[in-house]
Amino acid sequence: MRIRRIVETCNDCAKCNAVCEFGLDPLRDGFGQECNNCTACMAVCPTDALTFTLRISDFPAQGPGHLGRQYRDESEIEIRTQEAA
Ligand code: SF4
Ligand code: SF4
Repeated sequence: MRIRRIVETCNDCAKCNAVCEFGLDPLRDGFGQECNNCTACMAVCPTDALTFTLRISDFPAQGPGHLGRQYRDESEIEIRTQEAA
């Protein structure tokens, strides 16, 4: 059982990283073997973007949350580049 970040509903607020007692990086899918599934990060997530999934290993880093500024900015740049081409 692993925790998975649902990238579509994550807003990059980093509250999950702030509460992790092991200093893990749920914000960037960095749970690692140290994660004991304590659910503190799930409880603090304002958009319910963390959920349990049945997997042996973590998901590879999925990039910025789709509700966050970084993803929106990158998407706009991509759209503008496509329009210019
Ligand atoms: S479940 Fe607990 S140990 Fe695992 S990443 Fe979240 S806060 Fe950290
Ligand atoms: S997973 Fe939740 S708490 Fe963590 S950065 Fe995304 S929205 Fe914030």
